[in-house]
Amino acid sequence: MKRRVAILGATGSIGRSTLDLIEAAPEQFEVVAMTAAANVQQLAADARRTDARLAVIADEALLPELREALSGTNIHAAAGITALAEAAAGEAEFVMAAIVGCAGLEPVMAAVDAGKTVALANKEALVTAGDLMIDAARRSGATLLPVDSEHNAIFQCLAGQDRDRVARLILTASGGPFRTFSADQMARVTPEQAVAHPNWSMGAKISVDSATMMNKGLELIEAHHLFGLPSERIDIMVHPQSIVHSLVEYQDGSMLAQLGPSDMRVPIAHTLAWPRRMETRVQRLDLVAVGRLDFEAPDEQRFPALRLARRALQEGGAAPVILNAANEIAVAAFLERRIHFPDIVGLVEQLLETMNEAAPRSISDVIELDRRTRAAAERQVPELAA
Ligand code: NAD
Ligand code: MG
Repeated sequence: MKRRVAILGATGSIGRSTLDLIEAAPEQFEVVAMTAAANVQQLAADARRTDARLAVIADEALLPELREALSGTNIHAAAGITALAEAAAGEAEFVMAAIVGCAGLEPVMAAVDAGKTVALANKEALVTAGDLMIDAARRSGATLLPVDSEHNAIFQCLAGQDRDRVARLILTASGGPFRTFSADQMARVTPEQAVAHPNWSMGAKISVDSATMMNKGLELIEAHHLFGLPSERIDIMVHPQSIVHSLVEYQDGSMLAQLGPSDMRVPIAHTLAWPRRMETRVQRLDLVAVGRLDFEAPDEQRFPALRLARRALQEGGAAPVILNAANEIAVAAFLERRIHFPDIVGLVEQLLETMNEAAPRSISDVIELDRRTRAAAERQVPELAA
């Protein structure tokens, strides 16, 4: 039996790596649905090539163009948020959640509520609605498999182990392109410098998050929800080579680590084949060529995003939603050259301090709070204008 897969965010970096693996193993997988934000031509070409049954474009105004691009095929074309959720909850048993941002929350929840095996790349969905999502998965019987390389590493290091004897989780961080920059140097960096990650090729938003280290902050919150440990038992360690993808320390003093090349196809393949393994064509890791592995403590002075994210996790309630939404707006404003690099985290801190919001109790509460925070953050952007 082939595994039937839906890919949410098929045109992005994670989506394309997923397609690459699936198309190299046609005897194991079948793409049944795929979605994209606005890239109709890419979506239609991928759907035709893989013979998908459903292609969904988020922007409803683009539906006629998608229909046109799929004419002469049996691929069903659809658009809008309801159709995204239908792609997630439809005939696929395996859903790759690779939309970027809180925009992916509703489709992810549709997959979780439908009891799917959900490979989760879309960390913002878990950051904003972690408790609700974990509860929903428990109710529906859905399986959450972490795609994020650090969480996938931890997942592998926990397999078959005594979970009650975990001392702490250690998330590794590359430190991003500005790891050795002074605060003064960081004040002047451009979007081009920020998206040029030293080790990984990724979408623009997560690349900027890696440069501010907000990515590691979001991953701290993600790890808390996926593995059920409190903030005090999740540490962050800078490891510039991105070879050790994360570690688990046990109470007997053993530390287990997962190593691999800096290629997202490795953790994606782990989720696709789980609980088994599959072959990939990725470049093998040559540890002798790497020669040495370095580790250092993170610097919260130069990278205050780490401190803000930890505080948001400890505070809980509305704070992680505010952190994430303000960050999404700030990153977009930086990429549009409307604010300077240090203002990204500055804006997040400002909103965390000024917004006074009740804890969201449902997914619609989260979406409403996300919307309000975005609007408030947008209002602040002109004040900071570059
Ligand atoms: P990307 O920008 O390359 O792709 C994002 C995808 O989401 C695209 O297909 C896009 O069309 C779709 N999308 C964007 N906005 C949307 C909207 N409003 N509605 C519907 N669809 C929308 O991003 P990426 O780098 O592939 O990252 C995807 C997710 O995976 C992010 O949450 C990121 O943090 C996470 N992740 C990525 C990597 C990586 O190496 N790229 C590693 C770990 C985790
Ligand atoms: Mg990661």
